[in-house]
Amino acid sequence: MAALMKKVSGQIRPLLMTTRALGNVKQASSGISFELSPEVQEIKNTARKFAREEIIPKAAEYDRTGEYPWDLVKKAWSLGLMNTHIPAHCGGLNLGLFECVTITEELAYGCAGVQTAMEANSLGQMPVIIAGNEAQQKKYLGRLIEEPLMCAYGVTEPGAGSDVAGIRTRAEKKGDHYVLNGQKMWITNGGVANWFFVLARTSADPQTSAGKAFTGFIVEANTPGVTIGRKEINMGQRCSDTRGITFEDVLVPKENVLGAEGYGFKIAMGAFDKTRPPVAAGAVGLAQRALDEAKNYSMQRKTMGKLICEHQAVAFMLADMAIGVEAARLLVQRSAWEIDQGRRNTYFASIAKAFAADVANKCATDAVQIFGGAGFNTEYPVEKLMRDAKIFQIYEGTAQIQRLIISRELLTNSKS
Ligand SMILES: Cc1cc2nc3c(=O)[nH]c(=O)nc-3n(C[C@H](O)[C@H](O)[C@H](O)COP(=O)(O)OP(=O)(O)OC[C@H]3O[C@@H](n4cnc5c(N)ncnc54)[C@H](O)[C@@H]3O)c2cc1C
Repeated sequence: MAALMKKVSGQIRPLLMTTRALGNVKQASSGISFELSPEVQEIKNTARKFAREEIIPKAAEYDRTGEYPWDLVKKAWSLGLMNTHIPAHCGGLNLGLFECVTITEELAYGCAGVQTAMEANSLGQMPVIIAGNEAQQKKYLGRLIEEPLMCAYGVTEPGAGSDVAGIRTRAEKKGDHYVLNGQKMWITNGGVANWFFVLARTSADPQTSAGKAFTGFIVEANTPGVTIGRKEINMGQRCSDTRGITFEDVLVPKENVLGAEGYGFKIAMGAFDKTRPPVAAGAVGLAQRALDEAKNYSMQRKTMGKLICEHQAVAFMLADMAIGVEAARLLVQRSAWEIDQGRRNTYFASIAKAFAADVANKCATDAVQIFGGAGFNTEYPVEKLMRDAKIFQIYEGTAQIQRLIISRELLTNSKS
């Protein structure tokens, strides 16, 4: 062991002496920095100010009415807090995923329902970002930069959510068009989207593999044959607009095929590498809010002659919440950072999504506990957090599906 230490320090010391002589580093650099750059800090401050001053005062009312938060969406759009991934050639900011997760966490701190409404645009546009040609990007992404418009990601169906390969919406080529028939379900922004990403089966042969059987399309929401269903009344995140959509002999021009026929499954699944980190960031924002609300309440409420935070049982609940929030945030940042480095992040994205979603649910439940009876009441903020948290374990791949992905990644890497 001592010999090994000597050898290692013998290798490292000359390197340190060189870098220190260059005057660049005061201490040995680990290559990791936990400091935000001034630019990211500025972005974070803008998002935080918007969440605290604009979202929080309106969140309870939007939750009560379920009304779509158009005024907040429009303000966020004008501040540049939405559509951050859109490339520069379409007029977008082309920010990295790290900047995006930083913004998303702050927005979700204000209200996860409002954040989901905004974040669904990223999900809808991601297939176009990763697989669209220049004309498609300019037309459909450029539109979202010119005006505060929404888009949506249409993959799930009444009969297939986790089992994406089981979707039944069909698209049949007829001349210069595809004829789309089928039904989508649980589509966020369904009732407000200007256009949809739609995944449909283009192979009639049931033996065709998922990697070749499906095609991704951009579908204008006002195309004849597109019928938008009623707004679903969900447990939480109630101002986010979730709907079923029916396609009946909808003509989609062949120019609206993303990539090429048969590439849809990979495109639809590939989007998640870039959208799961922001979803996980939303869960962290909610968890942080639950921790802050519970901490503040525990420092005011007295029982048995003490503030409740002075009871160790309560203080330890707060400590466990803090452990979860800090760890989840680091996982989110790692998953975003990996993709910003140009590396495949599927493993980290699923770990971040699974962990942060569980942390959000634990923190929200414990916040309700710390509030006691008041936690169960709609006059206080934490029951909403508990309702809003649940969906993080369901959409963009359930908690079980994330574990399926993580275990596959783990085992595949072990074999190679
Ligand atoms: C509010 C909301 C918004 C949504 N937004 C969108 C959207 O914008 N676009 C879109 O396309 N979809 C959207 N969805 C759909 C969402 O992604 C699906 O609901 C989710 O993927 C689960 O699919 P499912 O509901 O069909 O459940 P199922 O797939 O039927 O799963 C039921 C249960 O079985 C478990 N399970 C299933 N398969 C496995 C397996 N192989 N191993 C272990 N466990 C398994 C699941 O984890 C779950 O617990 C949204 C859903 C909701 C509720």
